[in-house]
Amino acid sequence: MSNRSKVALVYCKDYELDQVRQAVKEGLTLLGGAQQFAKAAEKILIKPNLLVGDSPEKCISPHPMVFQAVLEEFQACGAELSFGDSPGFGSTLAAAKQSQMLPIAEALNVPIADFQNGETVSFHEGRFIKQFNIAKGVLEADGLISLAKMKAHALTRMTGAIKNQFGCIPGMLKAEFHSKLPSANIFSKMLVDLNLYIKPRLYIMDGIMAMEGNGPRNGDPRPMHVLLFSTDPVALDAAVCQMIHLNEALVDPIVYGNEFGLGSSKEIEFIGEPISRFDTPDFVVNRSHGSTSTDLGILTSGLMRNYVTPRPVIMEDKCTKCGRCVQVCPADPKALSWKDGKDHPPVYDYSECIRCYCCQELCPHEAISVQVPLLGRLLHRQTA
Ligand code: SF4
Ligand code: SF4
Repeated sequence: MSNRSKVALVYCKDYELDQVRQAVKEGLTLLGGAQQFAKAAEKILIKPNLLVGDSPEKCISPHPMVFQAVLEEFQACGAELSFGDSPGFGSTLAAAKQSQMLPIAEALNVPIADFQNGETVSFHEGRFIKQFNIAKGVLEADGLISLAKMKAHALTRMTGAIKNQFGCIPGMLKAEFHSKLPSANIFSKMLVDLNLYIKPRLYIMDGIMAMEGNGPRNGDPRPMHVLLFSTDPVALDAAVCQMIHLNEALVDPIVYGNEFGLGSSKEIEFIGEPISRFDTPDFVVNRSHGSTSTDLGILTSGLMRNYVTPRPVIMEDKCTKCGRCVQVCPADPKALSWKDGKDHPPVYDYSECIRCYCCQELCPHEAISVQVPLLGRLLHRQTA
């Protein structure tokens, strides 16, 4: 029998519920059926990426129809379901409502799990992090099914199966991780350890309508017509890289996922549709070298970071001066302030900015983009 990681790929034209139901069933069947991952009476947590909660058309979270089809499949196994995520801003309830998942969960009698309170757990086997604070809703479950969205991402280039578990850390503790782990490189090591601790039983990704460009919140919808299923998040995220022609060596969660033994992106066994069916070389994503510490080592630490790594920039014409970016900035002291008064957009102090991109991620008005400074662009030409 082959030891290669399996990734099941299923074509799905759009979010018409019956089509999605059929596609979800097919994906699960390719991996042996939902009952492989959830037994009767087991407590199973479905963990969609809620990020902030917004309308499904924005493609920020898995589509509510995919959420519904997944709930139905696991409910049919007799599992006791709950669902939840710790959004980047606001409550789980508000995010579930805005993303239109709440009425579906209510109709199916699936409660929201506790993502407000956490518990500290030791993880001696962790390669990088030995202790986490994990949401109680995750700890109380017998197993977790991770439901991710295919999106471009400023910090980790793409956000997928591995990154989705960051939402298992409750509330503002996520911001602390950003400030303690101020680079894509070490942040990704933490993400891999987190997945090794939580051990989701299955990873599902909604790529029927993906998000490209200024992700993970303010990008553009991009039809990819695919649902992905795997027990190996490294293989699943690497499959996305293959589809969009993104060098997986630039995606730190995949690099450390391989190194720490979370999974393997080598010799993936694709089942279902051939991956060539989803080939999208012009998917808009950060392909530049020179933007993470993995690429350029010392150049992206200390003072040089200012001149090399991509930085968030406010587009004044779009900014409503709501202040959320200032509020969520985890740097200490904050790297965004009302230096010019509240009649003007907030002002960056890039020397304090840890490049976590939380401001870009959580700006509700698409007013922050991420731009590579000139020196970073020149280095990219030399290293590309
Ligand atoms: S969150 Fe966006 S809109 Fe609000 S102040 Fe910051 S840049 Fe402006
Ligand atoms: S300014 Fe933005 S990218 Fe920089 S530390 Fe604050 S939230 Fe993170």
